[in-house]
Amino acid sequence: MRRTGGNTSAAQMTSGGSGKCRKPSGGPIPSKPDPTDPASAGAALAPGLHLVATPIGNLGDVSLRALAVLRGADRIYCEDTRITARLLTRYGIKTPLETYHDHNAEAMRPAILEGLDRGERVALVSDAGTPLVSDPGYKLVRAAIAEDLPVTAAPGPSAAVTALILSGLPPDTFLFAGFLPKQQTARRLALARWAALEATLIFYEAPPRLAASLTDISEVLGPRQAAVARELTKLHEEVRRGPLADLAAHYRQTGPPRGEIVIVVGPFEPALPDAEEVDRRLCAALDELGVRDAAVKLAAETGLPRSELYRRALLMRDQKQ
Ligand code: SAM
Repeated sequence: MRRTGGNTSAAQMTSGGSGKCRKPSGGPIPSKPDPTDPASAGAALAPGLHLVATPIGNLGDVSLRALAVLRGADRIYCEDTRITARLLTRYGIKTPLETYHDHNAEAMRPAILEGLDRGERVALVSDAGTPLVSDPGYKLVRAAIAEDLPVTAAPGPSAAVTALILSGLPPDTFLFAGFLPKQQTARRLALARWAALEATLIFYEAPPRLAASLTDISEVLGPRQAAVARELTKLHEEVRRGPLADLAAHYRQTGPPRGEIVIVVGPFEPALPDAEEVDRRLCAALDELGVRDAAVKLAAETGLPRSELYRRALLMRDQKQ
């Protein structure tokens, strides 16, 4: 099933029938069947590796297309067959399940790649959320891409993005940093690397380490707003928002909460020089540079908007004349 076309994804390929790579007969079969579109109902799934996101708690969050892919695949690789079986049973899906997890991935990968090479339709899921996101699958995807085998995704829930949008913190630029190191020295070193990043930070954390991690985050990153998102999409969903130090103190006092947790931390905000200082430096720059260049120089040095500095520089030049 190796392709010659370079970057074609599984979704762009036509149906291969019953697992062997056959030439399409008749017109092309839609490879991304839209389950809401009666015209494509029953269309066979394209051969290739299908990365399928599953719910992070509420089984109702699975997408129609995820169900169609899981139903149409020749087999589903999952971390724990008991967990994925619950989802399949709920939706009456009988596709065979096999495991692909941290402990057998090296051994399983060659067989999965051989299956893909024969034109099989293979789905990969994790216990919850989006595979590869702090879950197995990256090496498999990398190997499939290297062998020019088709890879596509049925996207869906992920705890990181769900926590971000509920946090009340700036969503425009964010860094998902996965799990922090368990050991304190390594954790503080990791945090120091993100300290000057002007981005909202997202961490996964286990309840027993929550208070210690929040304390380290607060001490290394300094005073910032943050949120602890717990049990997202589940019955006891909770988002606790506040200054990092207060959240750390809260969980030190209450002890580890129950359930699954995401920590979201507001971005580093560089201290801006005060207006007088900016004017003084702008004035000095105008002794040597034109208005535009002085504004560009100060924007680079202070992080202030160039347009605002340009406007102030114009006023200053007019006053100087
Ligand atoms: N692949 C998953 C995803 O896309 O979100 C993440 C898997 S990672 C092994 C599991 C971690 O995700 C948990 O320890 C927790 O930090 C976070 N998580 C997963 N489900 C969650 C939920 N419902 N509420 C809060 N955090 C959750």
